[in-house]
Amino acid sequence: MSYATRFAPSPTGPLHLGHAYSAMLAFDRAKAMGGTFHLRIEDTDFDRCREEWVALIDEDLRWLGLDWPKPPLRQSDHLERYARSLYRLIAIGLVYPCSCTRADIAAAATAPQEGATYGPIYPGTCRGRPMSSRRQGDALRLDIAQAVARIGPVAFTESGGVRKAARHTYLPETLVETAGDIVLARKGSGIVSYFFASALDDAHQSITEVVRGEDLFDFTAVQVLLLVLLGLPVPAYHHHRLIRDAAGKRLAKRDDARAISKFRAEGATPADIRRMVGLPAGTAPRSGAPRV
Ligand code: GLU
Repeated sequence: MSYATRFAPSPTGPLHLGHAYSAMLAFDRAKAMGGTFHLRIEDTDFDRCREEWVALIDEDLRWLGLDWPKPPLRQSDHLERYARSLYRLIAIGLVYPCSCTRADIAAAATAPQEGATYGPIYPGTCRGRPMSSRRQGDALRLDIAQAVARIGPVAFTESGGVRKAARHTYLPETLVETAGDIVLARKGSGIVSYFFASALDDAHQSITEVVRGEDLFDFTAVQVLLLVLLGLPVPAYHHHRLIRDAAGKRLAKRDDARAISKFRAEGATPADIRRMVGLPAGTAPRSGAPRV
């Protein structure tokens, strides 16, 4: 299968240097492999996503010299496809409705759970509820113990980045303690969780290597579990270092001072941005200047 990767921003703010690094690194890897770079707009959080950010993402990426062969995949156009995958997990009895509030979950949690990637480990209050008892507004959760009981050890390849390039084999049962019964469909909207939609799209877009920040590393095991449960192909993962500010804090969307649009307005060039994030000069030979 030929190499394919993607950049998958959520349009909730302007792209900053960290996004530019991620997008350019993915683009460079695709070029180096003679493969394809795709753009995916992860816009299922209707409260926070804005069209103006989608337009600016497009503008910034093109200014950086990136292009993609097809119009970007907009997740908001694919909600039915995600729902079909969710129904498959429901059909095999791995999903239950949950009406617990955040406060219920916090009150029932027995140990402090700071840093849990998927929020506090769910104490299992609604586990076992039949789908027929689903009320409007309920979230849907994966019964993780049942899910891992269906599959054996799972392997995926980490292809460099900040982790050593290696074939990782992990025992899904560790997810019972580290992730717990994660939310697959969100309370209220009923739309699938973003890590689920993202994994489904990696398969849908035939992504062979996911290039993304190391802050997303902890999602990988659950994403791989979901892909394996659904019989979908598992890509390789390349988690890269994060771009940090002078104080060592990782950049967030609200760090407008680092927005690419701001650098553009101040007269920076794409080559300046590459230098700032520590990427080698552009891959395309400059006219008249032989590459050395
Ligand atoms: N949409 C996610 C973000 O903007 C990225 C998800 C991914 O790359 O897997 O942080």
